[in-house]
Amino acid sequence: MSSSAAVEIDGLRKEFGDVTALNGVSFDVRDGEFFTLVGPSGCGKTTLLRILAGLERETEGTVYINGQDMTGTPAENRPTSMVFQNLALFPYKSVYANLAFGLKMDGVPKAERRERADEMLSVLNLEGYGEKSTDELSGGEQQRIALGRSLLTEPDILLLDEPLSSLDVQLRKEMQIELRRIHRDLDSTFFYVTHDQEVALTASDRIGVMRDGELVQRGTPQEVYERPNSPFVARFIGKTNIWRGEVASVTGDAVEVITADGLRIRTTTDDPDRGDVIKNGEVHVQVRPERVTVGEDARDMENVFEATVEDRIYQGDDILYEVRVGETSLQVQQPSKERTVLYDVDSSVNVGWSRAASYL
Ligand code: ATP
Repeated sequence: MSSSAAVEIDGLRKEFGDVTALNGVSFDVRDGEFFTLVGPSGCGKTTLLRILAGLERETEGTVYINGQDMTGTPAENRPTSMVFQNLALFPYKSVYANLAFGLKMDGVPKAERRERADEMLSVLNLEGYGEKSTDELSGGEQQRIALGRSLLTEPDILLLDEPLSSLDVQLRKEMQIELRRIHRDLDSTFFYVTHDQEVALTASDRIGVMRDGELVQRGTPQEVYERPNSPFVARFIGKTNIWRGEVASVTGDAVEVITADGLRIRTTTDDPDRGDVIKNGEVHVQVRPERVTVGEDARDMENVFEATVEDRIYQGDDILYEVRVGETSLQVQQPSKERTVLYDVDSSVNVGWSRAASYL
């Protein structure tokens, strides 16, 4: 993957009357990258995508695509193509007619259209589907055709606005994997927006998390999951347990926090020199449910607490516990193995996690 920027966004603002949809957003997307913008409904994702596509005019700031300032460039002259939430396929028409629509508009001769549509069908794992009517296709197949239609116009940047949201859970999971594969095979830049953090984690090279018109964190899925820079990001990307507390001591990257309900938690920080942490002391500390151990094995860990089981949910591959430690309820997720001991509601257990498993 080249590290040059395919998209550069600089100080983007968008106001709709008194609503500020984007409040000074700056970042770049690398050439060939699968970049996902994720955030709750109304945070400005679609607005940003529409500005990139040229469907909406920015109030302030600049978008560069392949180094070119796009200000004032109409949608049809941009090297982008957008796949929408609602598919917008032509009903009762063949897959070929749908796929090749853009090529026909561009005056590509029929034989070549057919050939390129067939190549795309093979990328989409839908060989032999050309003559079918779109009405005969499943939701997932229709989604792939809509994707293929956009890809056939060979955009430098493919813009995807929640394209999987209409699919059921199983299909959505399959399409996440498919999208990754298609992206890998084609080597083009994908810019994806969604409120679904799972899509963001599974499919992307990097993600950006948005909140109220601002980009609050950016990084690889792993960086953002392991090192969220705020309680908002920690809660939005995955499940977590968070305490508010005060710093009791800092030694290198090792920090001890006393939580508001009196627990002493040994944790880590990336930035031990941060003056505000040490001086003012109020911090948040988190541990992900799957990093917490329950039972005998918890005893030797750097953080160990006595807890009462409040609820147990058996999920097949995992067991979820809700346990009470002092005044806090804690979520614990254990993989279910051959001889997993199941703890009953109301029983007393130890829960524990290593210092490195939690994060300030
Ligand atoms: P969702 O996930 O629900 O699609 P989003 O993150 O994509 O949400 P946007 O659609 O970009 O959010 O909207 C951001 C804000 O701008 C919202 O408060 C929305 O109501 C407002 N907004 C968007 N488009 C318009 C418009 N054309 N006129 C007025 N307000 C708008």
